[in-house]
Amino acid sequence: MNELLQNLVKLQSLEFAGVKDKNAEASLTELRGKIPPQILGHYDRLVAHGKKGLAAVRGQVCSGCHMQVPLGVVMTLKRGQDIQLCENCGRYLYLPEATKAEVPKPTAKPGPARKPRKSKGPLLLV
Ligand SMILES: [Zn+2]
Repeated sequence: MNELLQNLVKLQSLEFAGVKDKNAEASLTELRGKIPPQILGHYDRLVAHGKKGLAAVRGQVCSGCHMQVPLGVVMTLKRGQDIQLCENCGRYLYLPEATKAEVPKPTAKPGPARKPRKSKGPLLLV
């Protein structure tokens, strides 16, 4: 994932967790220092309106407004090249890491359980 986007995701999860201890505050200050002011400004405006500044893209749909996201935007996010805004709700878009797990595994087919072969070798009986 794009590093800037990763920082935004972390920032949002920290802010929405509502943790108010010293460690959390230090992490927030550190994260905010890493994010360019214009991006942070846009993010803060969304949060000030009671929205989340970031929305996950699931199945090419923005989780913030449930509108379809153009494939080109999803591809850019997948490559981690750039940050993208939802055209509809204006939130920053990110691809949750879980997307990778949705790819079906060909080896995950549950077969009949094989009984473990009992070895009655002479060495075990001694
Ligand atoms: Zn949206």
